[in-house]
Amino acid sequence: MADLPTKAKVVIIGGGIHGLSTAWKLSETYKNPNDIVVLEKKDIAAGASGIACGVVRNNYFQPAMRELMAHSVGVWESDPKTFKYNPVGYMQISPEIMHKDVASIYEQQKGIGYESVFIEGEKDCTNYMKGIFDDWQAKGITSVLHEKKGGYAFNKDSIRGIESKANANGVNVHKGVTVTGFKRGSNSKAVTGVVTNKGTIDCDQVVIGAGPWARDFWNMLDLPKKTKIKGSNGTTHEVDMWTYWFLQEGVLGVDANYLRTNEGKQPPVIHVDTDAPLYSDQSGDLLTDKLWGIYYKPDIEGLGVQGGTSPYIVDKHFDEVKVDPYGLESPDYQTTDKFADMWTSALAHCQKRFVGKSNLYRKGPSGGLGCLTPDSFPIFDRFCENVYMIADANHGYKMIGVGHLVAQEILGKESELLKPFRFNRYEKGELHPTSNSPFPWS
Ligand SMILES: Cc1cc2nc3c(=O)[nH]c(=O)nc-3n(C[C@H](O)[C@H](O)[C@H](O)COP(=O)(O)OP(=O)(O)OC[C@H]3O[C@@H](n4cnc5c(N)ncnc54)[C@H](O)[C@@H]3O)c2cc1C
Repeated sequence: MADLPTKAKVVIIGGGIHGLSTAWKLSETYKNPNDIVVLEKKDIAAGASGIACGVVRNNYFQPAMRELMAHSVGVWESDPKTFKYNPVGYMQISPEIMHKDVASIYEQQKGIGYESVFIEGEKDCTNYMKGIFDDWQAKGITSVLHEKKGGYAFNKDSIRGIESKANANGVNVHKGVTVTGFKRGSNSKAVTGVVTNKGTIDCDQVVIGAGPWARDFWNMLDLPKKTKIKGSNGTTHEVDMWTYWFLQEGVLGVDANYLRTNEGKQPPVIHVDTDAPLYSDQSGDLLTDKLWGIYYKPDIEGLGVQGGTSPYIVDKHFDEVKVDPYGLESPDYQTTDKFADMWTSALAHCQKRFVGKSNLYRKGPSGGLGCLTPDSFPIFDRFCENVYMIADANHGYKMIGVGHLVAQEILGKESELLKPFRFNRYEKGELHPTSNSPFPWS
């Protein structure tokens, strides 16, 4: 590994999807050695990007999110082989309470030329689903949005693919280098250098793509712990800047081809939200009669079917949440038996092939923390004059294109797609619309 330089044009912090895709795109313009320096405390894909389920979709109720996702899907499609991207499509399967929201998503997808099919009415939805999986049995579904684009990618492999593209343009990712603080100018708020455990790098600009560690960098920059939000009634209130959620995911240990369609093909990613009562596949007990949601797809390691349910809020002030060690190594945050019962029962609720299969759930560490913003949507903005923060509010593995747009902004060209995600939207009350989905990011 090359020595850590003492000077750079841009220091990028984080070897996940956002840090590396920003480095890749920026390196098409900044070509001199050490123009761009990427710092990663552990290894690439050591954070959320390396454990993401890998789902790539457009289905968002917020127009600005949808346009951004359509842009990112274009980047995934630009090199599916390197990104290990499977363009199998994505299905949002919903109950009546979400019908209107999803219908508007479909209309707007047509408007932006994003190919999808929309089925309405319980009978037609059941027939459509049975046309894909003849064992489909979920009741009370009154709309199906079938996105023909999107699908899923292999989490770690795609991050390696992006690193290789940045490497090919001469960028070095310095692994095992932990950022501990920032050097500040005497006459302005600007950052003049990035302080690490292996030395300080003076620089003109900084990009932070720190995923669940966004909070730590926010604190290092002395930014406020509360944010003012102007509500729709014009009054302003203050909320905590960050909230941690725990993403619950797991794998059912069945044959790698278990989820094939009637035609023997790879299935689209399935996402079901419903208010139908859910009963345990193990005990027959009622698990919930409130709105619930799950998603599933083939496991990327061929271990069976992988997916998850809605995440839950970590009931602690953000400064008290222990993010390290992260993911599968975390002693504090792992999925539980309750999750396994709920998710496997939900699979059985949807497809007959999963009935009586909950005992095949693969026990072991899974899931991970996400750091969400005050409205649970991303913040892409500059702070302290020259620090660009990519705080994706855990929407972000699918957002492979954000780094491209951030690179443009670093080079001085404002991105229309990123503009709706500025920090001052809270104070101005320019918030994204919210949907009826049980997930914080739909
Ligand atoms: C269980 C789970 C499943 C998910 N599934 C999906 C999905 O299916 N689809 C989807 O679109 N999104 C999904 N997400 C969300 C997605 O994974 C994240 O939004 C995205 O990966 C964040 O990318 P990032 O580059 O910002 O951060 P990360 O990938 O977390 O990268 C940040 C990097 O910064 C490094 N770092 C931290 N602190 C320091 C420091 N002080 N110095 C140097 N380096 C540091 C870390 O080691 C890490 O490698 C999921 C998230 C989780 C937790």
